[in-house]
Amino acid sequence: MLHRLIYASRLSPQVDHHQIREILAVSQRNNAARHISGLLLFNSGFFLQWLEGGRPQISERFARIAQDTRHMNVELISLDTVASRQFFNWNMGYLGEGRLNGALFARFFVDGRFDPHRLSAPAAEAFMLEAGRETPTLTP
Ligand code: FAD
Repeated sequence: MLHRLIYASRLSPQVDHHQIREILAVSQRNNAARHISGLLLFNSGFFLQWLEGGRPQISERFARIAQDTRHMNVELISLDTVASRQFFNWNMGYLGEGRLNGALFARFFVDGRFDPHRLSAPAAEAFMLEAGRETPTLTP
């Protein structure tokens, strides 16, 4: 049965955001092998990631991701059964700094500042679906 997992995290202080290139390359390789698709957002030092696929596969990946020291404050937002994939073209699509506009932030955050840890589960889902209307990329 198809599932979707959403979590938020923060880039670790000692990590250069250029490492995102390596994170994406490994993610795309690993996810493809497990039939996982999804979207990774990075903005203002925060990550918000959507993983969709079989529950055992995304649970196993999330357990691995949560131990990665390149990010911190890893917070599970939701894990739900879904009828279909939203990002089936992307083993991990990416939307980084400058790809999301201020109007979107203003609608979801009172102060217009992106901090995914403040999103409820339904808001995180709605935010990512709106964000995903921009065409993601495979590299930063
Ligand atoms: P490994 O051989 O263990 O590592 C692959 C590469 O990553 C190596 O070059 C290694 O040096 C480097 N690396 C691993 N951990 C660290 C670390 N702590 N610090 C510096 N370099 C490191 N993985 C997925 O499979 N799918 C995802 O969707 C996914 N999303 C991620 C999102 C975020 C925000 C972050 C931070 C990581 C994500 N990862 C994802 C990566 C995941 O945490 C693991 O690093 C990766 O899955 C390990 O893959 P591996 O066992 O095949 O490779």
